[in-house]
Amino acid sequence: MNSIESNLESVRRRIETAAEKAGRDPAGVRLVAVSKTHPADSVREAFGTGQRVFGESRVQEAIGKIPLLPSAIEWHFIGHLQSNKIRKALPLFDLFHGVDNGELAVQMDRIAAECGCFPRVLLEVNVSGEGTKFGFQPEHLCGAITDLLALPRVQVVGLMTMAPYSEDPGAARPFFSALRRLRDDLQQQTGTPLPELSMGMSGDFEAAIAEGSTLVRVGSAIFGDRPKKEIGPDFPNP
Ligand SMILES: *Cc1c(COP(=O)(O)O)cnc(C)c1O
Repeated sequence: MNSIESNLESVRRRIETAAEKAGRDPAGVRLVAVSKTHPADSVREAFGTGQRVFGESRVQEAIGKIPLLPSAIEWHFIGHLQSNKIRKALPLFDLFHGVDNGELAVQMDRIAAECGCFPRVLLEVNVSGEGTKFGFQPEHLCGAITDLLALPRVQVVGLMTMAPYSEDPGAARPFFSALRRLRDDLQQQTGTPLPELSMGMSGDFEAAIAEGSTLVRVGSAIFGDRPKKEIGPDFPNP
């Protein structure tokens, strides 16, 4: 068995165990295999084991990769979307995880009307309050949510967050719990279901599943390490 296949098997088993421990149906947790920086061949290999959902964080890279790969793949955009990339990104992705400000959502809505599409999005929340992170401040989102839900094209289906990096996987759990509670409050406030919670990466997805994650974004635990520096127009250096 090659390493991508065995890594995927191990990640799937860990997802299942974490879901069962939390009393959840493992089918309620979807694995987004984060293939950014990795070649199309690696994606094809993962696809061969049955993986169908993949995440990319740079529009330019995705434009090169997606046409080389099976159309049965569901592509998710997990990064910070720059407004000058919206038009190119809209037709490529089934779900946008990182919609991190209201202006971006409004621009996506306007361009979606021109493209005739209805993008599904998750609102990124900065629950840790770290200055370097993108995302809505939780208290601002409570004010902004009604307008965001009223956008005719953009479909808000949930929330996303990134926990601060830590060696201790349990350290992320309070941030995931905060995102879930914020989601519950917003649902209460608006009466609109927000079923998706995108939280958990290679280092902390089990803690995220314990707190209700429905989408885990796992890269290095599947594909191995990426080059250390990820600096570029779609991934600014903080
Ligand atoms: C790169 C990335 C991931 C995957 O990170 P790993 O630690 O490699 O699992 C998840 N989410 C986002 C937003 C990312 O940019």
